[in-house]
Amino acid sequence: MSNPALRANKLFVQTFGTQADELYCAPGRVNLIGEHTDYNDGFVLPAAINFYTAVVVKRRDDLRFRAVSDAFPGEIEEWVFGEEGLPTANHWSNYLKGFTAAMATSGLAPKGLDVAVVSNVPMGAGLSSSAALEIAFGTAVNDCSQIKLSPLAIAQLAQRGENQFVGCACGIMDQMISALGEQDHALLIDCLDLDSEAISIPDSLSLIIINSNVQRGLVESEYNLRREQCEQAAAHFGLESLRDLDLATLEAGKADLSDNCYKRAKHVVTENRRTQNAAWALESGDIAKVSLLMAQSHRSMRDDFEITTTEIDYLVEIISNVIGERGGVRMTGGGFGGCVVALVDHALTDAVVEVVEKQYAEKTGLEADIYLCTASDGAKRIDD
Ligand code: ADP
Ligand code: MG
Repeated sequence: MSNPALRANKLFVQTFGTQADELYCAPGRVNLIGEHTDYNDGFVLPAAINFYTAVVVKRRDDLRFRAVSDAFPGEIEEWVFGEEGLPTANHWSNYLKGFTAAMATSGLAPKGLDVAVVSNVPMGAGLSSSAALEIAFGTAVNDCSQIKLSPLAIAQLAQRGENQFVGCACGIMDQMISALGEQDHALLIDCLDLDSEAISIPDSLSLIIINSNVQRGLVESEYNLRREQCEQAAAHFGLESLRDLDLATLEAGKADLSDNCYKRAKHVVTENRRTQNAAWALESGDIAKVSLLMAQSHRSMRDDFEITTTEIDYLVEIISNVIGERGGVRMTGGGFGGCVVALVDHALTDAVVEVVEKQYAEKTGLEADIYLCTASDGAKRIDD
């Protein structure tokens, strides 16, 4: 019984001794292009994937929440709405409590729920299991209490919960795509005004995610450092964010800018253009253009933003050699390890899998995990 929804129902009955009322699902995601652009008010192009978190719930008459997850067996988490207390470091329930705490701060008043969670989004692999959890839960709370928040508003509450309760300074991309994803589409998100546009992914392409399984270190400190350098570069030009900078102005005014801040700004400015161009190229089926833009994005992350590793560069190189112009490949996610994303002609899927299986472990001593995905719908209630 590998289906998360079925398993969540079973877990609910085992835990609470009664049948659940409703089932909600929310997907993980992969970002096709647009890295480290979100907190610079720029553009990102993620897709929701067919790995998802199922949340089954039963309405309660009071303001109490009780929650279990099969990822942390034996624990029943319990709290009262508006009385979430302080977060417990690194505890999974922070993602749920963060959501209800954010609702309380916003003056929203949901009813309590009993909740069982089961997911097949791998945790900590860069596919955003955390957003899938928050958005599945948030969608359930919203729907069961008939609060009628939009998917975007749910995403904003989830982000606030993650920022303020979990203590992770994430942007809004993960929550937005998990809430708003569309089957066979990516979502071009403008992080300045949170406007978004569904971009169709050509039928001819497979979506492959390869987890390098590189042990990620220094992620948080390097991430914070990059944010600071971007802020410094924007301030140097008297701008609120790098969104408003163009390449000509950057080149003309770079003299007094540190080399690192210049390179970080160059990545962000060029990545914003590439992301918009990639969306239009995808929409019009121009795969060679998508291929070029993804390659340029990877080089920019490697040389200017300096967030790749030798193992990740190697993965991109061997896949790129196999697919040529018939697909694109790049690192995806915050960097220093994590995943590579490839959009390739279906006919090349086996060749990509084969080259990774044959060459990656031999060269690096690491075993990659390969996920064959499809772009999927965002969060929804599943009616039977
Ligand atoms: P990512 O979002 O890239 O998978 P994060 O570190 O942001 O990695 O989030 C992973 C954390 O989210 C887990 O350690 C856990 O606390 C929580 N989480 C994700 N999925 C589940 C789940 N199915 N059940 C309980 N907690 C989960
Ligand atoms: Mg996460």
